[in-house]
Amino acid sequence: MHLFTLNETLAEHLKHVRSRQQRVAFVPTMGALHEGHLSLLRLARSRTGFSMCSIFVNPTQFDRQGDLDGYPRMLERDARLLEQAECDVLFVPSVDQVYPTGLDTRVSLSLGEMDRVMEGRFRPGHFSGMLQVVKRLLDLTQPDEIVMGQKDFQQFTLVAEMIRQLHLPHQLVVAPTVREPDGLAMSSRNLRLTPEFRSKAPAIYECLQIVRRSYGAQTPESLVAEGMQILERAGLRPEYLNIVDGHSLADLREGEQREYVVACVAAWAGEVRLIDNLILRGHIP
Ligand code: AMP
Repeated sequence: MHLFTLNETLAEHLKHVRSRQQRVAFVPTMGALHEGHLSLLRLARSRTGFSMCSIFVNPTQFDRQGDLDGYPRMLERDARLLEQAECDVLFVPSVDQVYPTGLDTRVSLSLGEMDRVMEGRFRPGHFSGMLQVVKRLLDLTQPDEIVMGQKDFQQFTLVAEMIRQLHLPHQLVVAPTVREPDGLAMSSRNLRLTPEFRSKAPAIYECLQIVRRSYGAQTPESLVAEGMQILERAGLRPEYLNIVDGHSLADLREGEQREYVVACVAAWAGEVRLIDNLILRGHIP
């Protein structure tokens, strides 16, 4: 595995790689890697034969300073895991490399309500920061494919929309959510759960499964109300549970039929905010 911290040396290396007609698949991360990240990396490698991972805790996508400061950082361990997973290139840029003074890296898209609902409602500015960093990393790495996790449903949906609107030459590949044996979606944030809330957190996935089982037999409104109650009874503080059209991210109304429907949830487990989702109908386009 080659590790780069500078844009220029990375670009030089990738030039050589591409001169061999090698396709490249890219997995952007914020580190504190777990099996979910590694599954993306393995998928990347199996699809193109060449995997590249970035670790960059992007300051522009955090809406709370405490969340940014408390975000787990463990580069040496991450690099070891990536090496074992046969990662070809690891890119660990500094903030100056990603956001050099004088370069306008902001991204402007027409997203309607897509970036204002769910995560966008509770984390103002999060998605403009996320799209900004993904666009910048795509510009720097120029991959054939970008591999992202279904775990962050609204995130990959917005990246797909960005690729579409800006006619970017990258294919988005979405990998399934990897879960702990008790159903909790793997997340770097799980490291910060106290034992008490670690044992309560699987209620998020249980709630989503109950919603999926009852989908069709109940109105979306009553499903949401029931799901919120399940989370509260489990000792979590739900922020939202939305049943949405997977394309527009608009809430499904009573009697509405859509071919791609997703239940998305965010809930606090003590001081840690967790998100998860489950497809109720259809599949990722
Ligand atoms: P993060 O480091 O949290 O920014 O995540 C980097 C990538 O890993 C994103 O595309 C996430 O959707 C993906 N990811 C995070 N957790 C999981 C998981 N449990 N299963 C699959 N992919 C995941």
